[in-house]
Amino acid sequence: MVHAPPRPAPGMPPVRVNLYSDTQTRPTPAMKAAMLAAEVGDEQAGLDPTVNALCDRMAALLGKQAAMFLPSGTMCNEIAILTHCRPGDAVLAHTTAHILSAEGGAPAALAGVQITGLPGEGGQFAPETLRAAIHPASRYAQPQTLIAVEQTANLGGGTVWPLARLRDVANIAREHGIATHMDGARLMNAAVATGVAASDMAVGYDSVWLDFTKGLGAPLGAVLCGSAAFIDAAWRWKQRLGGALRQAGMNAAACLYALDHHVDRLATDHENARLLARGLAQMPGLAVEEPRTNLVYCDTAGTGMTAEALAVRLRADGVLVSIMGPTRLRLCTHLDVARADIEVALAALARASAE
Ligand SMILES: *Cc1c(COP(=O)(O)O)cnc(C)c1O
Repeated sequence: MVHAPPRPAPGMPPVRVNLYSDTQTRPTPAMKAAMLAAEVGDEQAGLDPTVNALCDRMAALLGKQAAMFLPSGTMCNEIAILTHCRPGDAVLAHTTAHILSAEGGAPAALAGVQITGLPGEGGQFAPETLRAAIHPASRYAQPQTLIAVEQTANLGGGTVWPLARLRDVANIAREHGIATHMDGARLMNAAVATGVAASDMAVGYDSVWLDFTKGLGAPLGAVLCGSAAFIDAAWRWKQRLGGALRQAGMNAAACLYALDHHVDRLATDHENARLLARGLAQMPGLAVEEPRTNLVYCDTAGTGMTAEALAVRLRADGVLVSIMGPTRLRLCTHLDVARADIEVALAALARASAE
């Protein structure tokens, strides 16, 4: 369950600290300057030099042959599903997967696929769970054609799939002739948190993408990578869905800028998340999950407050957080949250808890 942020109501103080989502970052002046200086061309004709440079760089970064620039991560997921699957197929993914809970039913509406939700701790399913969910091919059962993982697992708490588990999943998929997809919305967070290269994490995955509008702080854009044949087939869907662009180089320039300047600093977001979690744990009754990356989840049940009640109280003090369930809150650190902002948020929390 993901709620939209509350609309600013009359009399509400301005947001001082925005922990709602890393999607709410704004382009920095230097990023805007890079956008203005970009060389551009007709993207859908393959003539935008900046988009082409971004795609080459991303294919190399994620260890794939080819890449495609798209407006959003959702479009990366949907185009990947459309390319890998046919109507009536089944996709295996964790029950909390973004494709299952937050894309408006697009896998069903656009690709005509069903998703089999797999259980597991922290937004990850165990290799044995996957193995048990794969059925022999038969005339009766839905063809299982794609297995999807999320790195990091958003609703799972921003957890990082360990490399060995990613490999196990990919190997099981290959054994059964099933394609693999990695939703890498926050893949660089996973890479920075573990020191494992993104390309190593993506080994054995037929498609993988990175979002530039999360912690990387670009206003728009995501890049889907795969084999040359996969990207070629995916282009048909990009065109059909209206995702083929024109002078997109201005946006690709922001993404290139983010790769140069906003990747290593994700470590600061992770540090701020740990600081935030330690402070949150001081509130009596609040159960805080240990953050693995930049997402901090907590449960308000023990405080006697609903998640919404606490969120409203914090918002009245200028701190915006997101409500993920009746007693579940998510606080997200990012480019526009400094260490001092964490102190401001924790002071607001202390006031809420003293009431
Ligand atoms: C944000 C997100 C998406 C969708 O990305 P958009 O760029 O917002 O469309 C997909 N998967 C995960 C795990 C996400 O967090």
